[in-house]
Amino acid sequence: MADYRGLSFWFDSLPSVDSGGEGADDLRPRPALSGAREADVDVDVAIVGGGLTGLWTAYYLATAEPTLRIAVLEKNIAGFGASGRNGGWCSALFPASTSSLARRHGRTAAVAMRQAMIDTVGEVGRVCRAENIDCDFIRGGTVSLARGAAQLIAARAEVADAVHFGVDQLEWRDVAHSPRGATGTLGSTFDPACARLHPAKLVRGLARVVERLGVTIYEQTEVLSWRTGEVLTVHGAVRASTIVIALEGYAASLQQTHRSVLPLYSLMIATEPLSDETWEEIGIEHGQTFADFRHLLVYGQRTADNRFAFGGRGARYHWGSSIRSEYDRAPAVFDHLARTLADIFPVVGTVAITHRWGGPLGVPRDWRASATFDSDTGIATAGGYVGDGLSTTNLAGRTLTDLILRRDTAISRLPWVNHRSPRWEPEPLRFIGANLGMSAMSIADSEERMTGRPSIAARLMAPLTGH
Ligand SMILES: Cc1cc2nc3c(=O)[nH]c(=O)nc-3n(C[C@H](O)[C@H](O)[C@H](O)COP(=O)(O)OP(=O)(O)OC[C@H]3O[C@@H](n4cnc5c(N)ncnc54)[C@H](O)[C@@H]3O)c2cc1C
Repeated sequence: MADYRGLSFWFDSLPSVDSGGEGADDLRPRPALSGAREADVDVDVAIVGGGLTGLWTAYYLATAEPTLRIAVLEKNIAGFGASGRNGGWCSALFPASTSSLARRHGRTAAVAMRQAMIDTVGEVGRVCRAENIDCDFIRGGTVSLARGAAQLIAARAEVADAVHFGVDQLEWRDVAHSPRGATGTLGSTFDPACARLHPAKLVRGLARVVERLGVTIYEQTEVLSWRTGEVLTVHGAVRASTIVIALEGYAASLQQTHRSVLPLYSLMIATEPLSDETWEEIGIEHGQTFADFRHLLVYGQRTADNRFAFGGRGARYHWGSSIRSEYDRAPAVFDHLARTLADIFPVVGTVAITHRWGGPLGVPRDWRASATFDSDTGIATAGGYVGDGLSTTNLAGRTLTDLILRRDTAISRLPWVNHRSPRWEPEPLRFIGANLGMSAMSIADSEERMTGRPSIAARLMAPLTGH
């Protein structure tokens, strides 16, 4: 059996079967499509990809229409992708800013999208409670540090933007009310619309819940292609009138969707557990997530067992949108993350790093996430969340359910519905553009540290990053 525990700190810290505890999980793959069964099967809905998009869609469809025959087709095991490896921010963040949504769809639609995202944080918590998914969900909010003059300007602008649209309850906090263990802080923003959770406990727990609802999850079942009415896998065909494509970054690995999304790697580290006294010194509470206002994003959480789980961008894009397990580990990026964490919170300098991992997320050409359904072909898809998919996948599941069941609801009318992003350029343009963009973010941070003013490089890149 593959070493799935090595995929992330989250997989490694799932309760083992020997412990016999709630949520015990030996990560043994479920049967593949072939095995003892007939190779070709008939279902109503075939879902390609067993991450949170696929599983939330299965959950809401099975709850709404218990008689539907639903199959999830997963190449590895449920939660193998970004869903089992992420930073555990169940936030209201959405890759497109409210202003850019308002410019394109009008203020009312933009505000509706923001409200739907905020409500989604509560909805994830509600389902976890109702279905007994113990995933360390605590809605502690996000603290974003303004470290330096340029970050202070960005923080103030974000608060002003929230006030302008009147939905997000973002508040400004002065130094005295910001985490005391952070260096160089001129204040912080606090966003209550975020829960800290344990991603693998969520996605593995959700897989068990959908099985109880009658959904069949075929693992170790790689999908090769699909067309109206049929999905072709390495183990045979699945006939289905509705097909849901839920592959996020992995969509780049299939010929049909190769240029629909760019797989971008985000990497993470986890420290050994720290004492409650050390956390008191740091000033990050249980249930809180944190970041700062740099351009090359970093994000962190205090885990339920008192570690830092800390991640960030900076890993380079690989030629041809290739995805390989060795790309999950980039020593230079891990070192950069450890240095950055110790720079923000010097108390971490002497603490051991126990876990290092990463995974691909999906970036559409216009950085706009979408949920789509074509009633003529019966094919639905959701994704392109960039790094904001943990909660957005839940909204995707509810949105696709309404679209597939032909329900006209407030959710089925949100502005991301049936949005079609342009395709990425062929190589070598994709390689040059993606890696230049990454370098530009890094340069922008250095520029801001030197000048104390908002970066010109970042302003030039803004239209390309959904702002
Ligand atoms: C390191 C990291 C940190 C992140 N942190 C956060 C965060 O804190 N907050 C947040 O909101 N978002 C975060 N994200 C993004 C978030 O995790 C994703 O947006 C979300 O999990 C996407 O879920 P998904 O189900 O669409 O895709 P995935 O979870 O990637 O699922 C796709 C599934 O498809 C399967 N698959 C691939 N190819 C095939 C095939 N041919 N046939 C069948 N199955 C196939 C894969 O094995 C995988 O299980 C992070 C991502 C990463 C990588």
